[in-house]
Amino acid sequence: MAFDAKQPCAECGGIEWYTGAVAVQSASFNLLPGTGSIGATVEAVVCSSCGNMRHFVPEIQLARIRKSGHWKQVGGAGGSAGDH
Ligand SMILES: [Zn+2]
Repeated sequence: MAFDAKQPCAECGGIEWYTGAVAVQSASFNLLPGTGSIGATVEAVVCSSCGNMRHFVPEIQLARIRKSGHWKQVGGAGGSAGDH
């Protein structure tokens, strides 16, 4: 699910958002391990009223995360929570 700008901020109820792509990988830091790409970005969304910040992973990276052994699914159909 991508960001929905119609949703008010969960912290303050604000409705004015600012968004932009931010890098989450470098030579020494990787927030999206197992996705096989360097230079990946996520969509950052900031509430201009209170500063609350959220991040959304693009679909192409979500597809890689679903297939990657690095990430463990814990909910939804096929999830392992409670299965063992
Ligand atoms: Zn806010």
